[in-house]
Amino acid sequence: MEVRLKILYTALCHTDVFFWEAKGQNPLFPRILGHEAAGIVESVGEGVTDLAPGDHVLPVFTGECKECAHCLSEESNMCDLLRINTDRGVMINDGKSRFSINGKPIYHFVGTSTFSEYTVVHSGCAAKINPLAPLNLVCILSCGISTGLGATLNVAKPTKGSTVAVFGLGAVGLAAAEGARIAGASRIIGVDLNPRRFHEAKKFGVNEFVNPKDYNKPVQEVISEMTNGGVDRSIECVGNIDAMISAFECVRDGWGVAVLVGVPYKDATFKTHPVNFLNERTLKGTFFGNYKPRSDLPAVVEMYMNKELELEKFITHEVSFSEINKAFDYMLQGDSLRCVIRMDG
Ligand code: NAD
Ligand code: ZN
Repeated sequence: MEVRLKILYTALCHTDVFFWEAKGQNPLFPRILGHEAAGIVESVGEGVTDLAPGDHVLPVFTGECKECAHCLSEESNMCDLLRINTDRGVMINDGKSRFSINGKPIYHFVGTSTFSEYTVVHSGCAAKINPLAPLNLVCILSCGISTGLGATLNVAKPTKGSTVAVFGLGAVGLAAAEGARIAGASRIIGVDLNPRRFHEAKKFGVNEFVNPKDYNKPVQEVISEMTNGGVDRSIECVGNIDAMISAFECVRDGWGVAVLVGVPYKDATFKTHPVNFLNERTLKGTFFGNYKPRSDLPAVVEMYMNKELELEKFITHEVSFSEINKAFDYMLQGDSLRCVIRMDG
């Protein structure tokens, strides 16, 4: 059930940085990182019937077997077999790696390992897409943009005219804001510590800004005052436990829903007063915006093809593979939203 992909474009997502630094995550090295990418099927293994050489695909860090209880449920994308597993560095079939250097194995990363000209993935982790879609752009739908968009459209589900707060205005957060704009939210409040993000965020429908550093009280109180009791929906796209708690505590009593998207450190603990729940607020979380990669991702690609979703504005930089360290610098310095890496250079 494996396919070998020729990766043409890969981007850098903050999750790669997290696992590269391995701060508070299980270190598993040497390892080929990378999980936001686009490529072409080069060959298929035994048992693969729905992919053939030449197909254009987006590899996805969380897969879809189409057979388990989760894949059969309309509500879940947490496939029993192929859901994200950050600790597994080998293929499921035989527990071995498909990469090696001088006879020594190199571990895989979240079933994708796209910082490589060629990679091997389980066929359930490759979404076949429209061959006319430009891979240099739709590669960013393989993780960050679909995650943010789906967190809003599939999980937070703001209604027309509602107020939405987005914590973290990186690519994931701006995609969440884009989802709020598409859903017809009227106030979209962006929260970030980096003031440079505010200018960019205007292009994504964010119309109010809060920098927690500008206040000497918790940001949830600031937002609660701005909105006369809290926002209808909030989406956390930072990966910081305090931002997660603020995102929950800034939603309105009665119907407020907060959605966690950021990946927390291993030992993080979420703490809030239970009365916040009794007051009828809801806390949710999601991987990959609740999209089932093989079933749903082709339609997200079509949203781009039909001009309902703009991808160009997320791509601020492009480098060749030999300059991949620059892509890390752009992200770490907060300069880039997405930097697309061309594998042919
Ligand atoms: P990014 O680094 O580009 O953006 C994060 C933004 O948060 C930055 O603009 C930063 O200035 C801001 N920030 C940092 N601390 C903050 C704070 N305390 N309050 C408000 N803003 C703060 O990262 P990204 O690629 O957009 O990813 C965002 C998060 O989403 C990461 O944690 C990533 O691991 C996670 N992620 C989750 C999924 C999923 O399926 N759940 C998928 C992809 C990425
Ligand atoms: Zn499944």
